[in-house]
Amino acid sequence: MDLVNLDKILEKEPKYRLKQAKSAVFKDLIEDWQEAKTLPQGLRKELQEHCPLRLEASIFGTPDGPSRALFSLRGGLKVESVLLRHKDGRNTVCVSSQVGCVLCCQFCATGQLGFKRNLDYPEITDQVLFFARLLKKEKQKITNVVFMGMGEPFLNYDNVLKTIEILNDKDGFNLGSRHFSISTVGIVEGIKKLAEENFQVNLAVSLHAPDDKLREKIMPINKKYPLEKILDAVNDYVKKTKRRVMFEYIMIKDVNDSDEQATKLAELLKNIPLSFVNLISYNPTGIFRPSLPERIKRFKEVLEEKGISVTQRYRFGQDIAAACGQLAGKR
Ligand code: SAH
Repeated sequence: MDLVNLDKILEKEPKYRLKQAKSAVFKDLIEDWQEAKTLPQGLRKELQEHCPLRLEASIFGTPDGPSRALFSLRGGLKVESVLLRHKDGRNTVCVSSQVGCVLCCQFCATGQLGFKRNLDYPEITDQVLFFARLLKKEKQKITNVVFMGMGEPFLNYDNVLKTIEILNDKDGFNLGSRHFSISTVGIVEGIKKLAEENFQVNLAVSLHAPDDKLREKIMPINKKYPLEKILDAVNDYVKKTKRRVMFEYIMIKDVNDSDEQATKLAELLKNIPLSFVNLISYNPTGIFRPSLPERIKRFKEVLEEKGISVTQRYRFGQDIAAACGQLAGKR
């Protein structure tokens, strides 16, 4: 929906009207302005005409598994997001911040698309609203938003932060800042900027390799931001925010999953306080294959023996190719 237009239309109204309108959209999750009973009829009509609430998306997936939504944007572009329903009642939306991506990580489906453009904050917000409306019908709520869909959030910093600000608003969607996670390949300027924000959002850094040589090969951006620079920035971030940082590590067979590489990774991270490694099963999207479960288990053990905290994320709905980080808008 056109959030910029919403502000514009309500500029000429008393201040409380904007608050009422935003509360109707983000709290009551209305899908038609006629449902906004607190607003006068004339204003509802005007909003209906100039700021329609309909969201253009098609949905794929299974009722209790992950659902994947494909959004049609202006200019005929498409972008995807995923809803992950966890067994403990949490519902996470994995949102995209860009159409395509400039980074060309070898293992990532989005990179293979090339880069089209940044999403603006209403387009990112819509992805969350869409699933929030869906869940409302089941009397459920979104509990987490992760920027792990298409694109690199720190190359679209302002729109990402503005989205968080909107969804964090107490009079609206009211999702606490600790329920947002931003995942980055390690754009150092972004990490530094985030450390200065008032929002206590979670930071995740995609490492995927324990040394520059391998990382450069599978993630070309490592030439610009080598490991030492990234880890220095993370160190400063942790000191400043006292918040935990997650290092993501996708397990790719015979590429980054040996015992030696686990030892190297532990060496690299041992002095970074409050950090932990999240081992992610690789979703095959091209030239690589996923590590075998026994290999992942052993890799985890080596890290833990060396004092590194480790968590594990399994394949979310690989059957419908819906995991975060491999969205490509193929349909
Ligand atoms: N650009 C950001 C956020 C988008 S990707 C980043 O790279 O962090 C979100 C996560 O999914 C990243 O850790 C990314 O490396 C990972 N990912 C990409 N392709 C994947 C795949 N095929 N299988 C599993 N994880 C993948």
